Amino acid sequence: MRIQKVPRNRTAKQPVKECVNGSSVLERHDQLVWRDYEELVLASNKETLEQLYIQHVMSPLLGPKHVDAGMRVLVTREFLEYVQKDALCQRPALRVDAAEVDAHCDSVLLLSDHTLFPQGILNGEPCIAVEIKPKCGFLPVSSFIAEENAIKRRMTRYRIHQALKLHQKEISELSDYDPLDLFSGSKERMSKAIKALYTTPQNNFRVFLNGSLILGGLGGTTGSTNFAIEEAFEDALKCVIQADDGQRTNSFIQLVSEAAYHSGILDRLLEAQKLDYCDIEGAIHAYYNIISQPCKACKNLDEQKVSHQYTSWHSIPLDESLKIVRDYLIAATAKDCSLIICFRPKGDEVSGSSYNSVYLESTNQVFEYKVYFIDLDLKPLEKMEEHYEKDKKIVNCYIQNLCGEHGVNRDVTMNNY
Ligand SMILES: [Zn+2]
Repeated sequence: MRIQKVPRNRTAKQPVKECVNGSSVLERHDQLVWRDYEELVLASNKETLEQLYIQHVMSPLLGPKHVDAGMRVLVTREFLEYVQKDALCQRPALRVDAAEVDAHCDSVLLLSDHTLFPQGILNGEPCIAVEIKPKCGFLPVSSFIAEENAIKRRMTRYRIHQALKLHQKEISELSDYDPLDLFSGSKERMSKAIKALYTTPQNNFRVFLNGSLILGGLGGTTGSTNFAIEEAFEDALKCVIQADDGQRTNSFIQLVSEAAYHSGILDRLLEAQKLDYCDIEGAIHAYYNIISQPCKACKNLDEQKVSHQYTSWHSIPLDESLKIVRDYLIAATAKDCSLIICFRPKGDEVSGSSYNSVYLESTNQVFEYKVYFIDLDLKPLEKMEEHYEKDKKIVNCYIQNLCGEHGVNRDVTMNNY
């Protein structure tokens, strides 16, 4: 069940209006950005807006087979208040402080549990699912990236961001995960990426057995996989992976890489992510064109550095600005979503199955699998300034804290192959 949240600190402007019957739920400038998608502009509540965004924008990009827009269900205010009370004790403290349930909404979205197959668990056959939040899988090449931010062209945003997360104690150690490996199209590098995610799941990797979490943190970030967790995980895999003690985890990592490789699902996601072709350093100028306000990004740049490139950008046709920002926002959804790959051992029955299957060589097993994208939220236009500021903060923190240290030298070498 997905329930709308509102920031606790209401000094921040609302990304979308409160649920008001009859009028568009999108803010004025968001309506402009999405004007080619009439359905979105006409949406009169947040749940319908989210559904329509997934159906009309994300589903054609990622493939309808892999996307679930959910079902809208009306609820009472008492119900939402009860959920708020109940969620308080279950959500990570950091998140509880940040947001609360929006009790003014009159509906929620119901989605299938994609860690299970639709028919549930048949004949005691187990099913195992992995949830991966891959993050951005390419290096930006936009000419708008300032010289001092050149690191962005050499290292993925995920890896640069690790420095800030470590500095803010959001994580306890740096991850070896590199999205470039996962999106590489090479089975070997994909397997290396999955292995790194398994070792340092943070909030990017979870495993569910028959719908219950067996690895990774629920809702928040989690520490590295220590020996005790490894043992328990290896043990939990017993009912799914037919291999000797000590071999099951590796086989599982192989299984996930095989499915990710054969499904081609990451190629589709990468295409959607690449709709960010200007980088935030470019798209931010188009944003100010849309809201018709003086460009704060140009104002912050050194007088001399405000090259012709930027000034001419403030005289491009509105349609062009709208397209740049719309594509940027779609890419932002694609960079922030997760995918769930759910597996179950394939039985001997001859009857056709609608699912693809994958062969796990190390255990001589065949698995059926399905892939679903989740968390395909529409990013409000207003987030553009926030993205711009955060991008600067992430790069600066990386440069100040990690440059020259051992960990970074290694990163730089790794990215120079
Ligand atoms: Zn500008």
